[in-house]
Amino acid sequence: MPQLRSCLEVLKPYVPGALIPGKTKMASNENPLGPSPLAALAFSASAASLQLYPDGGACALREGLAHFHQLASGNFIVGNGSDEVLTMLVASFLNPGDEVLIADHTFSEYRFASILFDGQLKKVPLDRGYFVLGRFVEAIGPRTKFIFLCSPNNPTGSIILNHEFEHFMAKVPSQTIVVMDQAYAEYITNPDYADLRDQVSRYPNLILTRTFSKIYGLAALRIGYGIAHCDTIAKILRVKGPFNVSGPALNAAQAALNDKGFFAQTYKLNLDGLRFFETELKQLGLAFVESQANFVCIDTRRNSKQMYTAISELGITIRPLESFGLEDCIRVSTGLAKHNARFIVALKQCLDAVPLSGKQAYLTIA
Ligand SMILES: *Cc1c(COP(=O)(O)O)cnc(C)c1O
Repeated sequence: MPQLRSCLEVLKPYVPGALIPGKTKMASNENPLGPSPLAALAFSASAASLQLYPDGGACALREGLAHFHQLASGNFIVGNGSDEVLTMLVASFLNPGDEVLIADHTFSEYRFASILFDGQLKKVPLDRGYFVLGRFVEAIGPRTKFIFLCSPNNPTGSIILNHEFEHFMAKVPSQTIVVMDQAYAEYITNPDYADLRDQVSRYPNLILTRTFSKIYGLAALRIGYGIAHCDTIAKILRVKGPFNVSGPALNAAQAALNDKGFFAQTYKLNLDGLRFFETELKQLGLAFVESQANFVCIDTRRNSKQMYTAISELGITIRPLESFGLEDCIRVSTGLAKHNARFIVALKQCLDAVPLSGKQAYLTIA
């Protein structure tokens, strides 16, 4: 029998949000309006040239991104989803045994990529769903290679502010790489959000990741990107596979960037959804994190798997956050107005049906 590399023993296959025929999926933060129509058109048009290898360097899209973000094309790397970008980052810089700092309740891919390259994980606790960057600074040691931050954080929806980041970054040694996952940055309303696109030329050890999976509605195509100092990007490009992103995905992403109408429509729908959820959750007396993303993290004070099952029986799938280490919390994505309303009705019913867990609350009511 072949022997699995020993560092991989702890890995289990990823469990995605449930897609159950006939049920409304509010489990994976997908765009409820579908894909950008301009992107869908570009995707269809790609059918005529499927015999061609794609633009392996993603030159056209990187030019498009440079224009969109007011940076240079050398500041971008494109990946098969931002998931692949995260893996490429770790592949480029992590030596076996190096240390990686991640939050206790955050996106699972940082752990996955780190374990893949035999990193040593160190968990840093959030405070009721919020990053406390001072805790990360305190946890830095001589072998800390990566710090993974996520803002807005999946699954809590909280963000990191400019002044918090500045204070933090000044204390991070230059050999420690800070990754800021900005998969939901396009949904932000807070003007003090640490956007950081203007900071990558200042800090070669800062890498941002973004995606076309969320606000652009292209999750199925698998396309995301990293933003960093051009010297840092040049290093990461060494580990990139020659044709890592498909031609149809590159074409669709390019078109999506220009679809300002769809972007604005999605943004507005999400904002209305968040406002609706917040009003309703307050009335229900439930604790939640004020979200800057396209989902809300709710402390139901009840076992999240039981809540998931009960809500699913009423026709809606949400994400139980047990796998994120939050046993009594659920994450629900904003949907169309009718879905949001149905979710609240279902939630009310399930709060009556599922008993309190009796565990200590994670979130408190503001
Ligand atoms: C959805 C999500 C992504 C996007 O991953 P893709 O591979 O680009 O689809 C990245 N980071 C976080 C935190 C996410 O929630």
